Parts: sequence; C-alpha cells; structure tokens
Amino acid sequence: MEKVTFIGLGNMGGPMAANLVKAGFRVTAFDLSESALAHAVENGCERGENAQQAAQGADVVISMLPSGDGVKGLYLGARGLLQALDPRTLVIDSSTISVNDARQLIAAAASRDIRAIDAPVSGGTAAAAAGTLSFMCGGDAEAVAAARPLLEAMGARLFHAGAAGAGQIAKICNNMLLAIHMIGTAEALQMGVDNGLDPSVLSEIIRASSGGNWSLEKYNPYPGVMDGVPASSGYAGGFSVALMLKDLGLAMDTAAGSASSTPLGALAKNLYQLHGSSEENRRLDFSSIQNLFRRPAGK
Ligand code: NAD
Repeated sequence: MEKVTFIGLGNMGGPMAANLVKAGFRVTAFDLSESALAHAVENGCERGENAQQAAQGADVVISMLPSGDGVKGLYLGARGLLQALDPRTLVIDSSTISVNDARQLIAAAASRDIRAIDAPVSGGTAAAAAGTLSFMCGGDAEAVAAARPLLEAMGARLFHAGAAGAGQIAKICNNMLLAIHMIGTAEALQMGVDNGLDPSVLSEIIRASSGGNWSLEKYNPYPGVMDGVPASSGYAGGFSVALMLKDLGLAMDTAAGSASSTPLGALAKNLYQLHGSSEENRRLDFSSIQNLFRRPAGK
C-alpha cells in the first residue's frame, strides 16, 4: 500500500487527512500543533514526530499549510524535505500560496526528479469534512493523473488548470470573487434588516431571485439564518479573516504582475483590512465581515 505523509492538520488538513484514512490509505501525519496532531491520530493517522520523520519512505507527501513561507520552509533548503525524499515521490501542495512560490517548489522538486503539483482547494471546512472539495491543479499531466486517486478521496471535483502554478492562479481568482460576493451579501442583508426585514426571509427571497450566490446560499453571514455555518457559532472555525487577507494580497500581487484592473478586489481587500484591524477579528471566520455593517443594538 502507498505510504502517504500529510503535513498541516488544521481546519482543512485535519478532515482531509481523515478522509484519506477512511478511503484506506496509510497516512502518517505531522503538525506543529500537538492538539491538531492528536486529533489526526484519533482519526486513524500514524503519528509523525517531525516532518522529516513523518516523510521517511513516503510515496506521496501532501501539505496544507497557511503560507508560502511555511511551504518553502518545509520543502526547500538544506534541511528541507526535498533533500530527503526519494526520486519519483509525488508532492501535492494544497496550501493557497503565491504562484511564484508554487513554481519555485515544483522546479526545485523537478531538479531532484521528484514529481510535484500545486493543488489548492475550494469548498471550505464543510467540504473538507464531507470529502467534496474542488481541487485546482497545476503541473505535468502525468503528475496530476498520479495524484487523482488521492484527490478523489478528499474531493468531488478535480480540475487541471494548466502548467505549474496554474492551480494557484485559478484559486486566487476564485477567492477574490468570493470576498466580493461575501461583502455584497453582508451589506445587502444588513440593509434589509435595517429596514425591518427578517434576514431569513430576505435570504430566501434573494436565493430565488437574481442576487442568489454561494455566500448567501451555502455560507450565509447573518447569524441565525443557517445551521452549521460559522455565522451561527460566533464565527468560530471556518476560513479566517487572516487567511482571506492573505489571499486578497496574493490576488492584488497577481493583478499588478499582469496589469489587470481589479477595482472590486482592491476594495474588498481594503474592507477586510479594516475589519481585520484587531487580532480578535483576524481569527474569526471571513463571513464575520457582516459585523462591519451591523449597528449596535438600538441604533
Ligand atoms: P489552519 O491555520 O487551520 O491550519 C494550518 C495548520 O498548519 C495548523 O494546524 C498549523 O499548526 C500547521 N502548520 C503550520 N506550519 C507548519 C509546519 N511548518 N509544519 C507542520 N504544521 C504546520 O489553516 P486552514 O484553514 O486549514 O488553511 C490551510 C490552507 O488551506 C491555507 O493555505 C488556506 O488559505 C487554505 N484554504 C483554507 C480554507 C478554509 O476554509 N479554511 C479553504 C480553502 C483553502
């Protein structure tokens, strides 16, 4: 049986690793957080003492880390994993990172005859738990084909966007649009509430009308409208404001590089910066942008 190593067991990586175990893969896991690692072990992963030990003899290494610096720190340099992996090992990085960081990793892997792809995901924590993520892959077709059985154990849809880094480009286009429609949904719901409407009734009406969108229908930001979303549990868990800010920064860097005009993306980044000006808010789910528009009680 293939030996799979999974590094980064947070809100996304934890349930993704658990789904690989459920699908019958032997998974050795590692995370810097003891509680995240302990949870993965409860879900059937073998415990890695550190990244190097966890990746020993691995056929496939999957990473799901918060930042490009974290990914480069894991794989590159004299003590990086690429130095220790066997040729032909398959590396799948599902973190959302810059296109340049993804290309640097894939080129460094290729120089050691290690196959690597960028495979960021969409769908959020609920899809990670349900095994219904969308993967957007960049890299050689042969490496993407080799990754398919693993990605299918964690997701419902797999797209080959193009060459190395193409998955990351698709991902930040998607997340820039996600930020824009989340903010639009929050301000529309608030205007309705400020004018006496019930947010659940208004959501139902918009859902059946031309303003319907993913943020409203699957991830409603107004507390109490939908069960099982962060808005109904104090905006805990989910996709943090800090991570959305990172993605909007990546989107703006990409737009600058291609001289693309992204006025709404720039405004969305500004509004998330305003909302995320406190450490407390940066930890909340990104749908907490609703709080930027809510009035104090009685106003
Ligand atoms: P998270 O902060 O919940 O988890 C990240 C985990 O990585 C943490 O447990 C942390 O301890 C661990 N970690 C960090 N550096 C490490 C290292 N060097 N070695 C081992 N472990 C390390 O983040 P998340 O929400 O799971 O997001 C992970 C990635 O997925 C990010 O790039 C994010 O942009 C992307 N993403 C998140 C969502 C979402 O809804 N949360 C959706 C799509 C994509």
